[in-house]
Amino acid sequence: MTSTALAGETGKKLKDAAVLNAALSWSQELLDAEARRLDAAPAGVLSGTSVALKDNLVTTDHPTTCASRILQGYVSPFEATAVQRVRDAGALIAAKANLDEFAMGSSTEHSAYGRVLHPLDHARVPGGSSGGSAALVAAGVTTTALGSETGGSVRQPASFCGVVGVKPSYGRVSRFGLVAFGSSLDCISTFGPTTHHAAQLLCAISGHDPLDPTTRAQPPLAMPTAPKDLRGVVIGLPREYFPTDLHPGVRAGCDRAIAALRHLGAEIRDVSLPNTGLAVPTYYIVNPAEAAANLARFDGVRYGPRHIGPEGDVRALYRATRGQGFGPEVRRRILVGTFVLSAGYSDQYYRRAQAARQLIIDDFHRVFAAGVDLLFTPTTPTPAFKAGEKTDDPVQMYLADIFVCPASLAGLPALSLPVGRDQGLPLGGQLMAADFNEAAMLSASMALESVLDATAEVR
Ligand code: GLN
Repeated sequence: MTSTALAGETGKKLKDAAVLNAALSWSQELLDAEARRLDAAPAGVLSGTSVALKDNLVTTDHPTTCASRILQGYVSPFEATAVQRVRDAGALIAAKANLDEFAMGSSTEHSAYGRVLHPLDHARVPGGSSGGSAALVAAGVTTTALGSETGGSVRQPASFCGVVGVKPSYGRVSRFGLVAFGSSLDCISTFGPTTHHAAQLLCAISGHDPLDPTTRAQPPLAMPTAPKDLRGVVIGLPREYFPTDLHPGVRAGCDRAIAALRHLGAEIRDVSLPNTGLAVPTYYIVNPAEAAANLARFDGVRYGPRHIGPEGDVRALYRATRGQGFGPEVRRRILVGTFVLSAGYSDQYYRRAQAARQLIIDDFHRVFAAGVDLLFTPTTPTPAFKAGEKTDDPVQMYLADIFVCPASLAGLPALSLPVGRDQGLPLGGQLMAADFNEAAMLSASMALESVLDATAEVR
């Protein structure tokens, strides 16, 4: 298909899918400009594909709002490294995708521009915070999408929407141009309809970037191949991720996947990650602490709309701009983060959370050092939940991250792939690997995918 045809078709699909509220910014003019750019450039590995970008990745053509009123209409003077690499690889940038405000959430209900609808059941959420990206790929609007993970925000919506979501190791992909949320956790991550698609996009954006000193001095990830079988691969099942009260559909989906892994020749081993229970409380201290620090930059002086406030002094400017600009979840994180870092409390909360984070990291190291190549778990405790179900109870919302935030705290690569359906709703299985071992994880996912018909009902 020519770039012009792809731009036309993508515009039509975006229009038809408008009800999902998954795209915050797109226009046929920008799509056509993309087509002209592609026609003038050499072909690349992503030629012929369209990519949606979570709206916390800065772009010079579209505005970047982070789904917040505080950045309404903001246009970046520079482009994120990952976005530049996607363009250089020949992809058509299709749209900026909706998200939970500043990527805070697990349902994409916390967007200042309205919630995103689950493509298969509009009464449900697509997961979050990269729910717009996940929904666009699941609905077939774009070939792939970029999202961001701080604590599971690509794997969790991938699981809910029935697509593949891949979070790389921390430092594999440049964070330059990703609006900072939790700087020790943030990873740009990819969505695709299959592992192959998500892996190809990840390979294109990976590799060292002098503009982000936390990227590791490693060559870009090479595209893995699908193995014939998984003979010789040891896959651990951490018992903490399979509690006796696990949702029966989720369990059935995982059981099918585990049987398929065995069938492929993998050795399945029971393992333990004893500090898993600390992950959610640890994450919800470390994350708000970093968020509160990062979001201090939105002060009405440098970015977005400015509200002067009645007194007209600088404090009134901060109060009015931040008071009107930030939604409730963002305020909650700033309050919690400021509290856990404050004098007299930081030893009790922040420092203890850092110690707990180390215990979680040590658990993973121990298991991988004992000869386990990969870990397999459910991605989420339940299939997609109903809109409004958890918005009044932040702790219930936070618990949706229980299986995804450990790998984020440890900086490890992890992915979610569809393993079946429960009453029509997709179920995700998670693979996790040791630091910078994306290749083994992606290969295993390709093998598993080839033997699982992920649309099969499990109950
Ligand atoms: N749900 C998590 C949170 O709200 C994850 C966010 C993310 O990964 N961006 O913090």
